[in-house]
Amino acid sequence: MTIKPITYFDNNATTQVSQGVLEAMLPFYRESYGNPSSMHHFGGNLSLQIAQAREQVAALIGAESTEVVFTSCGSEGNNSAIRSALSNNSSRRRIITTAVEHPCVLNVAKQLQSEGYDHVVIGVDGDGQLDLGQLEEALKVPTALVSTMAANNETGVVFPLEAIGQLVKTAGALWHVDAVQLAGKAPIDLRSLPVDLLTLSAHKIHGPKGVGALYVRRATRFQPWLLGGHQERGRRAGTENVAGLVGFGQAAEEAKEAIENDVIAQVAKLRNRLEQGLLARIPDCVVNGGGTTRLGNTSNIGFKYIEGEAILFSLDSHGICASSGSACTSGSLEASHVLRAMAIPYSVLHGSIRFSLSRFSTDEQVDLTLQVMPEIVDRLRQLSPFSDDDVSWLQQMELAPNP
Ligand code: PLP
Repeated sequence: MTIKPITYFDNNATTQVSQGVLEAMLPFYRESYGNPSSMHHFGGNLSLQIAQAREQVAALIGAESTEVVFTSCGSEGNNSAIRSALSNNSSRRRIITTAVEHPCVLNVAKQLQSEGYDHVVIGVDGDGQLDLGQLEEALKVPTALVSTMAANNETGVVFPLEAIGQLVKTAGALWHVDAVQLAGKAPIDLRSLPVDLLTLSAHKIHGPKGVGALYVRRATRFQPWLLGGHQERGRRAGTENVAGLVGFGQAAEEAKEAIENDVIAQVAKLRNRLEQGLLARIPDCVVNGGGTTRLGNTSNIGFKYIEGEAILFSLDSHGICASSGSACTSGSLEASHVLRAMAIPYSVLHGSIRFSLSRFSTDEQVDLTLQVMPEIVDRLRQLSPFSDDDVSWLQQMELAPNP
């Protein structure tokens, strides 16, 4: 079987495990496969490896290693952060999120509403940037927790963390940050941000899938979500995924080095060449979130009058992987809740594609995409009889109510 070379521009969905990470993990599947809780040294010695991984992850975000609790993924981190914060602040049954959070935050908030909590949703502007005025207003009512993402998975829009932190702390609420997308793509220093809880996921930074971390500030009380053994100092039960944790540690160290060596700026250069090249070659397209601060690796472009899924299929036939929304909602025809919160017009929204690059992306991959996209869009537009004036077909496709 010959495998076509892949142009992988879907790094916000997941990333390739780096060679260094793979090599660091392998011994823990083959030779050192013990249980860290065992009394014998074959298992017991593994706690040293876990401690090193914890140091490496802590160093990526400017935390103490004791403030890092390993989890199974970003979704678990977000769920347990929110549940813990609310149970430790039970006199305030109110949570604030933004409209563009990942479903693993929004669906918890929905569940909480059914349990009698008040859920306040803060909107974003046309670029996907947070409405700080709305947040300030909402915080006039006593609130247990504010949960905001650091950077959006679909548009790459980065929220102003310092300003959010100031508002949240002035109001005396707890602050949880979903940093799954920002980590590894920009520096994070928790010594200078008043974050109480912060979520990370290894597979977004060239680590393995099924491993994550929750930062819990030393002074913040934590209520474990997963009960059982004494692992993670009683904060998260379950036999440790030693290979996964070692891989996460290595990935965190490599990500820190990439940031320090300006590799991130090189990724941004490549992203800019892709984005500007597409805008120059293809009429009637817009960058969603293009007017505000974004991650350097992400470009979400709306190609008017055609459907994103049709573009993705055509790209796939050239070995190019992109995405039409978050990995969790693509695969359904439901329009992106993020783009809808930005009030992106239907004719743009349904033809929006996310390209997300990594430090392994190349100039050749950008060239190939620039070469094939004009023809793909042109062909699909010739098949599409729709224009800005006729959006009824798009409105009919709208299966889900606005969030
Ligand atoms: N938060 C954000 C912003 C994400 O992009 C994702 C994954 O796409 C998650 C949370 C969930 O992370 P995981 O896939 O590790 O559960």
